[in-house]
Amino acid sequence: MRSVRAEGRNPFDRLSGSAVDLIGLDRAGMVSLLESIGEKRFRARQLLKWVHQRRIHDFQAMTDLAKPLRVRLSELCRVDLPRVEAEEVSADGTTKWLLRLADGNAVETVFIPEAKRGTLCVSSQAGCAMGCTFCATAAATTAAAARVVRNLSTAEIAGQLHTAVQRLPEGAVTNIVFMGMGEPLLNLNAVVAASRIFTDDDAFGLSKRRVTISTSGVAPALERLRGLTDVSLAVSLHAPDNALRDRLIPLNRKYPLERLLPACDAYIRDKHPRRITWEYVMLDGVNDADEQARRLAKLLRNIPSKVNLIPFNPFPGAAFRCSPESRIRRFADILAERGLTTTVRSSRGGDIGGACGQLVGRLQGEGGKGRCGERDRGGIAAG
Ligand code: SAH
Ligand code: SF4
Repeated sequence: MRSVRAEGRNPFDRLSGSAVDLIGLDRAGMVSLLESIGEKRFRARQLLKWVHQRRIHDFQAMTDLAKPLRVRLSELCRVDLPRVEAEEVSADGTTKWLLRLADGNAVETVFIPEAKRGTLCVSSQAGCAMGCTFCATAAATTAAAARVVRNLSTAEIAGQLHTAVQRLPEGAVTNIVFMGMGEPLLNLNAVVAASRIFTDDDAFGLSKRRVTISTSGVAPALERLRGLTDVSLAVSLHAPDNALRDRLIPLNRKYPLERLLPACDAYIRDKHPRRITWEYVMLDGVNDADEQARRLAKLLRNIPSKVNLIPFNPFPGAAFRCSPESRIRRFADILAERGLTTTVRSSRGGDIGGACGQLVGRLQGEGGKGRCGERDRGGIAAG
């Protein structure tokens, strides 16, 4: 895939004639910015609070900063949010925003309210190059004339949370999942920095248990992730063996189960009580047989696990159907009988193309009305 270069530690690395977007700086980024202009690093705390907690975008209003610093910041920095091009609200209360980025690309962000939590599903890339055969994001990427897939910047990821928080009641977002468009581990630096902004007490202050990165299985990046963060991990498994997984997730040919599972296990090793959430999309007659449930239970028997069964969300041109409800229940029972905590994800926002695997966004160069490759919520791993 094509991607933008990774962000460097010095915020001015990213200056290409334009100002630094403060929304994209985690604490370390703020410190580096301040030090580069001869300011004390402790001011990072004040800046984080202004930008992420008070969400003040006017530097002159940052009253506990000395005036010369405010002036300097206004010369060097900006605070920009993606433009909300469309907002759709599902009958079940799920809200999906289509966000237009500065370069014309678009991504989708979905908010799923539940009784005791509100989950924001954020995108990490515009489009996705992984080509999973059951995912609308992949299908839309392939269909897009320009076939552009690009990593979102930290600011574009954190900006999704800002956008949602601005429009929702105070405290509505309690959980964040990287289950929108894109493969988060192919955009590791920006995803890690955004996660830090989500969990930093001086920024959004969410518990690490309430921020979940979902991956299709980029094993080497998972190995690196371990040293960078300890947010929750969800892994899209979808098959109990390599032959089937190869068909569903082409990346499996590169990082098969014998490489992926140890990397997943290592990620949670020595962490306080944690387990991996395995996502398993229920595809009628493909991966939903009793024998496949038994194989799945066997595969995961030595890893602290929770299995989240996802009813397949259809999209135009999809080659799969969702397993019948009775089959999903039977599959869940087999796993539970073998000691695996198993949940079935409630499909939310399907009427607005906001369910898992339905998110399409509108890719640059693509004509017509976009639909989101989706993501999902309900019963999600976090929290
Ligand atoms: N790229 C990451 C995260 C985004 S997808 C990943 O693949 O994990 C979020 C979840 O939705 C993944 O588990 C993905 O496999 C699942 N998904 C994709 N298409 C789907 C569909 N059509 N129906 C249900 N779930 C789907
Ligand atoms: Fe990309 Fe995830 Fe969709 Fe696969 S399931 S194409 S990795 S967004």
